[in-house]
Amino acid sequence: MKFGGTSMAGTERIRRVANLVRKQAAGGNQVAVVVSAMAGETDRLVNFCREANALYDPAEYDVVVASGEQVTSGLLALTLQSLGAKARSWLGWQLPLRTVESHAKARVESIDGEALIASMESGEIAVIPGFQGVSDEGRITTMGRGGSDTSAVAIAAAIGADRCDIYTDVDGVYTTDPRIVAKARKLKAVTYEEMLELASVGAKVLQTRSVGLAMKEGVRVQVLSSFVGDDAVPADDLPGTMIVSEEEMNELVENGEVERQHVTGIAHDKNEAKVILTRVPDKPGAVAHIFEPLARASINVDMIIQNVGRDKGETDVTFTVPQADLARAQALLEDKRDDIGYNRLITDSKIAKISVVGVGMKSHAGVAATMFQSLADRGINIQAITTSEIKVSVMIDEDETELAVRVLHTAYGLDAADEAA
Ligand code: ADP
Ligand code: ASP
Ligand code: MG
Repeated sequence: MKFGGTSMAGTERIRRVANLVRKQAAGGNQVAVVVSAMAGETDRLVNFCREANALYDPAEYDVVVASGEQVTSGLLALTLQSLGAKARSWLGWQLPLRTVESHAKARVESIDGEALIASMESGEIAVIPGFQGVSDEGRITTMGRGGSDTSAVAIAAAIGADRCDIYTDVDGVYTTDPRIVAKARKLKAVTYEEMLELASVGAKVLQTRSVGLAMKEGVRVQVLSSFVGDDAVPADDLPGTMIVSEEEMNELVENGEVERQHVTGIAHDKNEAKVILTRVPDKPGAVAHIFEPLARASINVDMIIQNVGRDKGETDVTFTVPQADLARAQALLEDKRDDIGYNRLITDSKIAKISVVGVGMKSHAGVAATMFQSLADRGINIQAITTSEIKVSVMIDEDETELAVRVLHTAYGLDAADEAA
């Protein structure tokens, strides 16, 4: 069972979580619980780091931000004990949950589930802070924002759990963020592949890596709400959203339990920033010069557009990076200005990426055309486009995000009212 920040926000909410956990345990299940920091806490800690040192050392950042989960894991263990249950917390380094790669973006390498399983077999409920691990050097690491989802899936895989229930503040995965589109519909099931795309383009209900890991390890993941009444039934009977394989999805469609759409969901992402380099030399190696220093600094580049060279053998290159990395990207590119040989560096954080996702696109033409036309009808300008086999993304002005998502949700027939009609 994994509980997100809103579910853990304060002792009263933690008591409700403890009740849900106790019910699962009382049903004869051995339970491991992964918890997030209280809602808003990680943001608060990140801000402290920025105030202390704008170009902070990621290793020390990890020491600070991992503390939010340490607090909630201890509090949940205490609350479970107060309800008469046996429970203890297991910090990342105590398991240990080993991670590799850079601080603040660490990946799970291995988890020693032995002590955890022994404790669970002795009747103890294991409470594990999400988001955190330990590096080979013995230092604390964190796994990127939203990383508790990945901790939960990794723990589930390590102990061979029957299921990984991700409890959050909505009761499942919807056709789009239900906080933006009131007519969003809850999906009974969504494939790993689609969920992976949706998460990677901004549907923050699950961290992208958690979905990739679940797919690789075959972990059964369910998304459901912790905001239920005191007499709620345990999760086995709650209709959350199951993340399923394509074969399972085909069965659900054949049995008439799920209706296949060309577009499964729409996501938006306001956390990217646009970088434009003007008058870059139009010759072999020029683009490599731009992206090599960014790659070395572990800065992820997403959309890339290189215009057709104009006269004098020059071209403009536009791309996006996470807003959180913009300052570092800018500093690196300014540093390499002579090597790259560009004229001006222009940045813009007021952009958003809107994406439509669905396996139905593989066999159905016209999904992208519908997107472009629907946005054009509302006067929304498209600044860049990228596609994959099951996704089309466009970059637009950030102020038009909500409008674009609503317009597309209607255009693809996803509105809840359409279903009833
Ligand atoms: P937690 O703190 O539990 O990890 P998050 O805030 O990370 O929760 O994720 C849950 C939020 O994801 C929801 O409140 C919702 O606003 C947002 N969200 C975005 N896209 C979707 C979607 N397609 N379906 C459900 N929720 C979504
Ligand atoms: N607390 C961390 C965050 O806010 C991890 C998580 O909640 O999943 O990003
Ligand atoms: Mg989350």
